[in-house]
Amino acid sequence: MAPSCTLENGIKLEHPNPPSAIRWWLQQLIPALCHECRRVIRAEHFDDPAAPFLCNTCLKKLPWFEPQGRCPYCGLEIEPGSKTPCSHGVSRTWHLDRLRSAFVYRGILQDWVLSFKFGSRQSLSFLLGRLFALGMIGQGVEKDFSCMVPIPLHQKRLRSRGFNQSLLLAHQLLKNIKAKPSLLRPRVLRRVRETIPQTELPYPERLKNPDDAFAVGDSVPPGTILLIDDVMTTGSTLNAAARTLKASGAERVSAWVLCRSVIGNDSRDLIQ
Ligand SMILES: [Zn+2]
Ligand SMILES: [Zn+2]
Repeated sequence: MAPSCTLENGIKLEHPNPPSAIRWWLQQLIPALCHECRRVIRAEHFDDPAAPFLCNTCLKKLPWFEPQGRCPYCGLEIEPGSKTPCSHGVSRTWHLDRLRSAFVYRGILQDWVLSFKFGSRQSLSFLLGRLFALGMIGQGVEKDFSCMVPIPLHQKRLRSRGFNQSLLLAHQLLKNIKAKPSLLRPRVLRRVRETIPQTELPYPERLKNPDDAFAVGDSVPPGTILLIDDVMTTGSTLNAAARTLKASGAERVSAWVLCRSVIGNDSRDLIQ
């Protein structure tokens, strides 16, 4: 049986990629240290689905996203049993058919994402990709998508950063959920307009900033297209990407994000 642990919220995490016998013996010789608290995690290796990156204690402390009480399309808080439809934080048409997030964007997750993106610590993609997969597996998601499309960067941004963080995450995610590598289709969507980084804009500007930022590259595959992004703030970027894909014939567009930045229902509380 795959190693597993149960979080306080009842979500059960199973090891997406249990260690082989050779790796197990190697880890007895060279003990792995927890990425966060630096404790040796060898002893509890088989109980810890995040090994060899995090110990069980640090794994449970992460800000896991709770889908209950959240809008399934955008992740904002909704009143249980409320008849009022969610505004999704934007005044325009919402094009995403489903949103899943592994974490809330705060605490150590926020620090790791910032180091990954802006501190050029590409090696964090292994840890973040594993955690991303654990979050999705813990929520019992179906692998019912026909392809995975990471949100592209504009060529200029790609040159200055040197890598696309969403592409690296998607690559690690596929490995960790044991899906076929051929499902990754990074050329389906292109970024044709350079947008000002969302972090540099006031909230109302963020809502319209990514309009017309995307175009379709490769032909749009049938079935559900799954967008992958590192952080969702207002949702404008993902909504614009979904709109572009649907205008080119996509049947369904869902999104999985590593983190959803949300405090409460008030859009002004959204952080980045
Ligand atoms: Zn630890
Ligand atoms: Zn919503």
